[in-house]
Amino acid sequence: PDRLTTPERRPEDLDAALRPKSLDEFVGQQAARENLRVFIAAAKARGDALDHVLFFGPPGLGKTTLAQIVARELGVGFRATSGPVIAKSGDLAALLTNLEDGDVLFIDEIHRLQPAVEEILYPAMEDRVLDLMIGEGPSARSVRIDLPKFTLVGATTRQGLITTPLRDRFGIPVRLQFYAVEELEQVVRRAARLLGLTLTQDGAREVARRSRGTPRIAGRLLRRVRDFAQAAGDAEVDAKIADAALNRMEVDHLGLDAMDRRYLHMIADIYRGGPVGVETLAAGLSEPRDTIEEVIEPYLIQLGLIARTARGRCLNGPGWTHLGLPQPKGQAG
Ligand code: ADP
Repeated sequence: PDRLTTPERRPEDLDAALRPKSLDEFVGQQAARENLRVFIAAAKARGDALDHVLFFGPPGLGKTTLAQIVARELGVGFRATSGPVIAKSGDLAALLTNLEDGDVLFIDEIHRLQPAVEEILYPAMEDRVLDLMIGEGPSARSVRIDLPKFTLVGATTRQGLITTPLRDRFGIPVRLQFYAVEELEQVVRRAARLLGLTLTQDGAREVARRSRGTPRIAGRLLRRVRDFAQAAGDAEVDAKIADAALNRMEVDHLGLDAMDRRYLHMIADIYRGGPVGVETLAAGLSEPRDTIEEVIEPYLIQLGLIARTARGRCLNGPGWTHLGLPQPKGQAG
């Protein structure tokens, strides 16, 4: 389904143009940024490769951007791939042996690596060696190849998705959080400047407020707002123009779209506020369970509209309020 506010990457995203290039340019995620700054400076001072870094958090919060920034701040090369793309252990071996000293190897969606491929990573991360089997049958033998010092930067949507042995090999785990409205406002103003769009302060705030705490969505909404403003011949985008454009895109005042509202309505209308299992919701909405858990729910939980409980998903008081429905009597939340 075509969702404007889906935080997952889409081919038409011209993300690269808006990507901050240094830790100073990167807005928000203050704790993560300050820690990275210290670890990068220390590694550089020792002349050593940075310890392996795992970024985790919902899509569109800046994991890829930070991985690129880490390489740039270290002054080393950057190679990128993703879990599902690496089909065989030989593919990963080729990537690893082609690295140069100090390089950053970025693996997006690292939780989707094949188990056999993942096993190659363990000795590579820990001892910087590659154990390869050459030949088959009785003549098969294993060879050990030394790898250059490198830094693996992994990204995943939830820390719990990756196996314990893999997780344990990352010295620097970094959780990314949804952005505050004030931070997104800065992201929006910066993006507007880069896009050559004139935006008033309350115009920027309106877009920020409705971006689901996610810079990628802020950039995308801003582009569409620009289109509406251009079509209307508006030279400057204020809150009123932004609001009208966002309403036409069916993005409500909390930044929720039609899909989010269908999700909330399903719990409210069919399951009387829950609890209802995620599989049941996935079937009812014809959406993969992963999309529900990784993309739709985190922000609804952040807003306090729903709760994940052991027995299933429940609509909270603010969820009922957002739908404009009375909360049934005797319900907690
Ligand atoms: P992820 O890898 O977590 O899915 P990305 O790193 O691809 O997210 O970021 C998505 C988009 O959001 C990029 O266009 C990037 O420019 C923008 N972005 C992410 N974080 C920031 C930030 N802190 N400041 C400004 N722009 C950001």
